[in-house]
Amino acid sequence: MQAVPEKPTTEELIACPQCDALYRVPSVPDGARLRCSRCHALLLAPRAGAVEAIVSLASGALALMVASIAFPFLHLGVAGLSAEASVIDTIRSYAVVSGLMAPLSVLLAALIVVLPAMRLGGLIYALGPLVAGRDPPRFATPVFRLAMNLRPWAMTEVFMIGVAVALVKIAALATVSFGPSFWTFIAVVLLVGAKDTMVCEKSLWRVLTRP
Ligand SMILES: [Zn+2]
Repeated sequence: MQAVPEKPTTEELIACPQCDALYRVPSVPDGARLRCSRCHALLLAPRAGAVEAIVSLASGALALMVASIAFPFLHLGVAGLSAEASVIDTIRSYAVVSGLMAPLSVLLAALIVVLPAMRLGGLIYALGPLVAGRDPPRFATPVFRLAMNLRPWAMTEVFMIGVAVALVKIAALATVSFGPSFWTFIAVVLLVGAKDTMVCEKSLWRVLTRP
């Protein structure tokens, strides 16, 4: 499916993200992919049931994340001594190792837990009522914009990769085993990844701002 350039006369305008060509697009059926006729960049790719899938995946990820914060993330054993650490303990110990304890702990907690949770909560707030067949809530537009803009700052998956690298180094010095919270965080990363594949931001904007 290809778009044909038209004069910008209505509010249903879409600019090509690559070549800035403007298109007036009244509606695109679910499952269709709308491309720029000039540079073939993808303009819109609405999916059937995307809003429902995004809200349910985000709800699952947020519930797992909140539930797993207090549970043990790792067990460490060295010479008969053993210790357990939760996600918050792990964040704090990252900061201790780096020598900048308090400010770095706050920053790490924000990037790994707080901002990802805010993104998920924002999506649920803005899109949840649509699943129930109601209008978007009052602050849906700014909240959805914030959730989209926070994406580069939500680094749960980066943290999990960091933990994996650290464990490879520690494995020679101590016996390491994973607590329940480690596996729930893996599940959170997978659910968030699945949710992101359902997000076509421009299509969601059209759904949210539909009169
Ligand atoms: Zn283009």
